[in-house]
Amino acid sequence: MEQKPIYVTRPEMPPLEEYVEKLKEIWESGWLTNMGNMHCCLEKELKKFLGIEKLFLFTNGHIALETAIEALELTGEVITTPFTFSSTTHAIVRKGLTPVFCDINSSDYTIDTNKIEDLITEKTSAILPVHVYGNICNVEEIDKIAKKYNLKVIYDAAHAFGVSKGKKSILEYGDASMVSFHATKVFNTVEGGAVIYKEPDIGKKLLALKNFGIRSEEKVDYIGGNAKMDEFRAAMGLCNLKYMETFIRKRKQIYERYVERLEPLSGIIVHPLLAEAQSNYSYFPILVQEEEAGVDRDEIYEALRKEQIFARKYFYPLTSGLNCYQNRFHPEETPIAYETAKKVLTLPLYSNLSLEQADRICQIISQLIGRKEML
Ligand SMILES: *Cc1c(COP(=O)(O)O)cnc(C)c1O
Repeated sequence: MEQKPIYVTRPEMPPLEEYVEKLKEIWESGWLTNMGNMHCCLEKELKKFLGIEKLFLFTNGHIALETAIEALELTGEVITTPFTFSSTTHAIVRKGLTPVFCDINSSDYTIDTNKIEDLITEKTSAILPVHVYGNICNVEEIDKIAKKYNLKVIYDAAHAFGVSKGKKSILEYGDASMVSFHATKVFNTVEGGAVIYKEPDIGKKLLALKNFGIRSEEKVDYIGGNAKMDEFRAAMGLCNLKYMETFIRKRKQIYERYVERLEPLSGIIVHPLLAEAQSNYSYFPILVQEEEAGVDRDEIYEALRKEQIFARKYFYPLTSGLNCYQNRFHPEETPIAYETAKKVLTLPLYSNLSLEQADRICQIISQLIGRKEML
């Protein structure tokens, strides 16, 4: 039987009828963008869902991150990690700043806080860590360092929607956090994002910057851009938000199935979840240790591809090694990130992936390793 292709993710979607109902409301209002009813409603519902007070919607996560950098007036050097999506590093560089790459922990792939202080110079203005795969950075330690050296902290929390530490949303740490609502993320508004911030003054600036710097009809305070979320996207968010608990519950089942089947395999390292953290089960990365597995990451990637299963090498290459930055940075200077990027493979995970499909993926990996073990 011909198998349908399985991609690394599929967008989480609400029932079409529910979206159509929202479209009718938009048609009746005749209001398509510029902070309309859907936009206001979504901001309110998100704050409630996340248990936070200060959040602004944006048209996508990347522009939200650039706007946060602008609102916090960062200058000079920004300490960050290269084990992330290109957006993180691009945002820093596009704002005229210099990224300074810190290595990651081998346990959770977030910034190694023991290595931050050595990278601080008189030009450093901020730390921009990534809650990669929804794994929580060492927020307390980052806070301490930021206080000690008077640095700002912006989290790339693109993967961390709905993640909390104890009872507290992870988005409450730092001066600001950016979340992405891109179609491939655990919660989507087709394209979209948000900034969660702390200081009211920063809030005012964020709000103006996403709408051309406009304060009132005749006052334009900043040379802002356009980063507003429209009503159609906000409506998609409102529909999807209702199903978040279901989406996350289903993802958890698949996540646990993967752990159960893959953890016993020699040379396959599955990433452990922190006991204190509430996860959103957004990604399932594995590390392939070639010496023990007898196969390397690329062989597993190819074997899955042959079966129409499209796992992805998130995050390879490191952003510091991207060809657009040729020779400017040195990926080998963050050796743990460098090695991790060579071994990591992110497996398909979305709420409509069936357990049978997950089992099939595990079986292909397991047979590949088994075959090598028998040689
Ligand atoms: C998706 C993503 C972004 C960018 O978000 P968009 O909404 O796609 O613009 C930034 N950083 C990371 C780590 C991401 O995964």
